[in-house]
Amino acid sequence: MSDTSFLTWPFFDNRHRELAEALEAWCAGSLPVDQRDVDAACRGLVAMLGAGGWLRHTGATGAERLDVRTLCLIRETLARHDGLADFSFAMQGLGMGAVSLFGSGVQREWLSETRAGRAIAGFALTEPGSGSDVAASTATAARVQGGWILDGEKTYISNGGIADIYVIFARTGEAAGAKGLSAFVMPAASPGLEVVSRIDVIAPHPLAHLQLNGVHLPEAALIGQPGEGFKIAMSVLDVFRPTVGAAALGFARRALDEALARVQTRRVQGAPLSDLQMVQGHLADMALDIDASALLVYRAAWTKDMGAPRISREAAMAKLYATEAAQRVIDMAVQLHGGDGVRVGLAVEALYREIRALRIYEGASDVQRVIIAKSLLG
Ligand SMILES: Cc1cc2nc3c(=O)[nH]c(=O)nc-3n(C[C@H](O)[C@H](O)[C@H](O)COP(=O)(O)OP(=O)(O)OC[C@H]3O[C@@H](n4cnc5c(N)ncnc54)[C@H](O)[C@@H]3O)c2cc1C
Repeated sequence: MSDTSFLTWPFFDNRHRELAEALEAWCAGSLPVDQRDVDAACRGLVAMLGAGGWLRHTGATGAERLDVRTLCLIRETLARHDGLADFSFAMQGLGMGAVSLFGSGVQREWLSETRAGRAIAGFALTEPGSGSDVAASTATAARVQGGWILDGEKTYISNGGIADIYVIFARTGEAAGAKGLSAFVMPAASPGLEVVSRIDVIAPHPLAHLQLNGVHLPEAALIGQPGEGFKIAMSVLDVFRPTVGAAALGFARRALDEALARVQTRRVQGAPLSDLQMVQGHLADMALDIDASALLVYRAAWTKDMGAPRISREAAMAKLYATEAAQRVIDMAVQLHGGDGVRVGLAVEALYREIRALRIYEGASDVQRVIIAKSLLG
């Protein structure tokens, strides 16, 4: 059983503690799922998470706001049980984040579908020539009678190929760079939207390269105002970056659990590995990294939930620290397993592959360092 003492911290209300307990029970009965067919697994997970009521928390329909502590608690718990379950949950939130924060009444109708698990969401920002440098995006949205025509490419799009609805960012040209981008709601069934290839990664999940060949969207597809796309994307990332840290935290907690079980049963020199002081030192470092990550993740989430309009610095610190720390913790868990640590099929081997992309997407680690430094230098 993982350490849950953090739930007594003052960042949480009782509703969070009750939710964590209920989700733990749900995970124990439902996860992990069969992942031999990743697309089918993700479709199934979205449906299961919807039926279980968990996806309710991934979208704000108007009267309610996104509760970042809840998003983080759910991601941490799901990640500890099943990385693909965390992925499926997270993408419903990230994909629809712009709609939750800035969407019109009509656009919000999609939320009843994604929150129920009846529609799968995607977030299409990255392009072949612009990942970290969002301001260099070149996909275009040209205004035409009654709407917009989109052209260009998007790549590394999670849920690409299985999504029903994307929020997509394209250049509308109000100004050069970041101030000339806009955000749109784009159904996957839009004529001209093509999934040109799927991308295989070390921890498999649905990922695709998309081509926009004159995709026609109605006027009402525009989220917010023309030229607000960059601001919208950064506001969405402010909410979801701490949750990436939370997922990393879940992976790290699982790695520590696996390591603790291993070192107390594996014997060397006639005694359990855990009797060795050097092993104990590593366990202490892992626990320290985990608690420090949890403090930063839930500090960021709490700050947002208390009404801070932007939490760029707190979110960057949470994502940077928790993902880098989880990589260290998981690497040590692999090490403490010896040869078994790199055997395909063991939990720590999967975690070792699973954690890597979190240090890259939604802003690579060095991009988080730049954000933190900017907040210091003004
Ligand atoms: C598994 C996975 C899932 C993804 N899902 C999505 C998705 O759903 N939607 C989406 O839009 N995108 C998605 N992405 C794309 C992801 O957000 C980008 O890969 C990421 O932003 C980095 O962009 P890039 O790959 O173009 O790398 P680059 O921008 O080329 O950066 C490469 C490296 O250069 C360094 N670097 C870049 N800029 C700076 C800087 N300013 N200061 C210091 N160092 C810097 C960093 O070390 C960085 O890792 C996903 C990526 C992966 C791997």
